[in-house]
Amino acid sequence: MHELGIVFSIIKQVDGIAKKNNASSVKEVTLEIGEVSGIVPKYLTDCWKWAVDNRSEYMKGCELKIIPIKAKSFCESCEQSYDTVTYGKICPYCKSEKTYLLVGKDATIKNIGVTGI
Ligand SMILES: [Zn+2]
Repeated sequence: MHELGIVFSIIKQVDGIAKKNNASSVKEVTLEIGEVSGIVPKYLTDCWKWAVDNRSEYMKGCELKIIPIKAKSFCESCEQSYDTVTYGKICPYCKSEKTYLLVGKDATIKNIGVTGI
């Protein structure tokens, strides 16, 4: 499952950060998830609950917070940005197809709440 792989990779990163900072536990992780990342937040949360209790010493019971990020595209012809989900690949201002995704494809760790530093 796509989401499980993402959860494992996040746990690995957070685990590493906790270790490096001598934290005793991680209570909360905030993730920014792009609208067109293909990630389903509900699946992600389900995987998360299982994975933090089974795959990490530091993160048992750790809470996952998700901040959705709106997808934005940029038009090279008229240099404006617009809502990707509404308009897709065609610029709503000048109808150009020379557009690319600015934000909204990634999942990024925004914040990690630890105890015991
Ligand atoms: Zn345009």
